[in-house]
Amino acid sequence: MSATATLERQAARPAVEHFDVLIVGAGISGVGGAYHLTTQCPDKTYVVLEAQETFGGTWWTHKYPGIRSDSDLHTFGYRFKPWRSAPIATSEEIRTYMNEVIEENGLADHIRYQHKIAQASWSSKDKLWTITATKTKTGETVRFTANFLWMCQGYYRHEKGYTPEWPGMSDYKGRIVHPQTWPEDLDYKGKTVLVIGSGATAATVVPAMAKDVKHITMLQRSPTFFRTGRNAIALAEELRELGIQEEWIHEIVRRKILFEQDKFTKRSFSEPDKVKQELLGLVRAELPPDYDVDTHFTPSYRPWRQRIAFVPDADLFKGISSGKASVVTDEIERFVSTGVQLKSGKVLEADIILTATGFNLSVLGDIGFEIDGKPLAFHDTVTYRGMMFTGVPNMVWVFGYFRASWTLRADLVGDFVCRLLKHMDAKGVRQVEVALRPEDMNMPFLDWIDTENFNPGYMLRGMHLLPKRGDKPEWMHNQDYWAEKDEFPAIDLDAAEFVYH
Ligand SMILES: Cc1cc2nc3c(=O)[nH]c(=O)nc-3n(C[C@H](O)[C@H](O)[C@H](O)COP(=O)(O)OP(=O)(O)OC[C@H]3O[C@@H](n4cnc5c(N)ncnc54)[C@H](O)[C@@H]3O)c2cc1C
Repeated sequence: MSATATLERQAARPAVEHFDVLIVGAGISGVGGAYHLTTQCPDKTYVVLEAQETFGGTWWTHKYPGIRSDSDLHTFGYRFKPWRSAPIATSEEIRTYMNEVIEENGLADHIRYQHKIAQASWSSKDKLWTITATKTKTGETVRFTANFLWMCQGYYRHEKGYTPEWPGMSDYKGRIVHPQTWPEDLDYKGKTVLVIGSGATAATVVPAMAKDVKHITMLQRSPTFFRTGRNAIALAEELRELGIQEEWIHEIVRRKILFEQDKFTKRSFSEPDKVKQELLGLVRAELPPDYDVDTHFTPSYRPWRQRIAFVPDADLFKGISSGKASVVTDEIERFVSTGVQLKSGKVLEADIILTATGFNLSVLGDIGFEIDGKPLAFHDTVTYRGMMFTGVPNMVWVFGYFRASWTLRADLVGDFVCRLLKHMDAKGVRQVEVALRPEDMNMPFLDWIDTENFNPGYMLRGMHLLPKRGDKPEWMHNQDYWAEKDEFPAIDLDAAEFVYH
């Protein structure tokens, strides 16, 4: 579109634009939401508002060396768009794939970038949300009304990652960098680098930087489980050789992966020790025979309590075996001018310190929510299956899976939203909310996520901000794809917990 045409189109926009649905965020969930609306509810008008300058969400924000997925793209990719490459993908490959979804389905015209939403207010009188956003480029305030809000804002603050405060940080003379805000000018060639953390980010950045640095050390408080293997799926390769069409390969490989993950997850609970030994066996096989796997790679928790990162082609362990990378398991006592001093008394010197220490949880995209003039206390709501919330009309949040790929849930929720919107039209109503039934009143109200089951740090730090869950299927947030894939399509939209006006 020419610059003049764009200006004319903008000038023609009313002061407050109205859409049937407003999607928050153009990450994998928001772009998926736009696809589902386009294909399943073609009569609905919608807009996607995205704070950043382009689509991708997580895959645009993170720019550290080696940035890649830690789950396979057959299941992290959408159900409706075949993934044709190696299962573990770079952020660039993921964005190329998302761009194809946008191009192939004409979604680009629906997305407005550099629109940061600050406020969302629901009016029961008008049965509308009013959304106030700031155009980040110009500072201009713009308003929209929408009948339905589809929250695809993810779960963490994109502007800034989480860095704990350690004593003496200001004494350190080198550069401290959080991988979430990677400086373009960071020159690490020939430097000594210390990475604090041992999650998926650390496991990615260490092998990616190892070849260029003098030495890179991964400092962890406690070890993490990893899985390793070839970055390829033999079945996909075989089917491709047979000339099977990509749509079939995508579906068959998804089923195989999901079947194996289900088996693995169940075994992590039924025979955790055996699974633990298998995982450790994979790691041992990649490291020198005298390597201290007990200290550095044997977690104290049982497998699956935290996400297990996949290390493609064992690159992290190859880096360690080469001598360019090493692991230290200890705690930080304080920062000193040349690096960090550990509780053991040892000092790790470094020119650059990377704090791969996680995220800041962002509940509902840091948007100020109001319902009929009253600020929404999100923590006081009870969730309906981890996607709707008592007392919050016409709103759904896509909170994906952690153990399985996030997008599996984004697709399931997409089908649910489209079915709900059609159901509302068929009933001739403009408002839906979920409400506790009389028999739910004495239910125990529990934390958003069962921390016995799953306990990443950013969730534990932010639990007091998140909605509650109950102990009945409708009010649970169970993070179980294998149950929800059958339960979601069977949800009775006329059940007593749905209240329509
Ligand atoms: C480095 C990294 C690797 C990961 N790898 C995997 C993986 O391999 N497999 C997996 O299943 N999961 C993975 N995850 C989890 C991952 O975040 C999700 O799977 C998924 O990308 C989330 O997609 P999303 O679209 O829901 O949210 P996000 O990717 O977080 O995107 C949300 C978008 O909403 C926008 N937004 C937020 N608030 C507002 C606002 N107020 N106004 C306007 N726009 C707003 C943001 O700018 C952002 O672009 C990974 C996470 C990280 C950080």
